Amino acid sequence: MFDNLYVLAAIAVGLFTIIIALIVMMKFKSPPPGKPRRFCPLCNSSLADHETLKGLIVDNKPPQKILIRGCSRCAPSVEEGTW
Ligand SMILES: [Zn+2]
Repeated sequence: MFDNLYVLAAIAVGLFTIIIALIVMMKFKSPPPGKPRRFCPLCNSSLADHETLKGLIVDNKPPQKILIRGCSRCAPSVEEGTW
């Protein structure tokens, strides 16, 4: 009788530990490797895979300088530039 109770308690504690471990693993799961997320440096919004930033080339002489104006969400739409 007591043996069965101990076995049941041990199984319950084991299952509980496994469930807690699974929850912790899912919570701290790292993003998939090889595809780092990119963020707009101005508004910090997440960029899609092929989304680019808008920038103006302000100096053609080396070293070239590019003025970052933002992503498709935060860049001023009136300005011409390279997307
Ligand atoms: Zn932005």
